[in-house]
Amino acid sequence: MAQEAPAPQDDCLFCRIVAKEIPATVVRETETTLAFRDINPQAPTHVLVIPKAHHRDAAALAAADPALAADVLRETQAVADDEQLESYRIVFNTGSGAGQTVFHTHAHVMGGRGLQWPPG
Ligand code: 5GP
Repeated sequence: MAQEAPAPQDDCLFCRIVAKEIPATVVRETETTLAFRDINPQAPTHVLVIPKAHHRDAAALAAADPALAADVLRETQAVADDEQLESYRIVFNTGSGAGQTVFHTHAHVMGGRGLQWPPG
């Protein structure tokens, strides 16, 4: 059973997007998740899928609320379907050393071009 949802953080950019205080190009919304286009896209499709509740990263989300983590993953698939991506990448940067800059869990859904492996 999930714990009570964490309160929105006033200083969190993505909490403020959820609250509609900062505009974003929303492509999908459910009761628990929001998907919007990345402001600095790194691929023809670059969408961020977030839980509306504040969790600092994917590990924290999975530990606190596995059902919500599943909602986020399900929505990444829905974005890929909507965008008609045959192959795509789902990335959760976790920790500043891995490139995480916004500490509210988000999945990057990237596709629409060839993607190299391994990433840098
Ligand atoms: P991270 O580096 O934490 O994995 O990813 C954060 C992502 O958020 C980056 O790709 C960045 O371009 C995106 N981003 C930062 N600020 C904004 C914003 O105000 N609006 C939107 N839509 N994306 C943002």
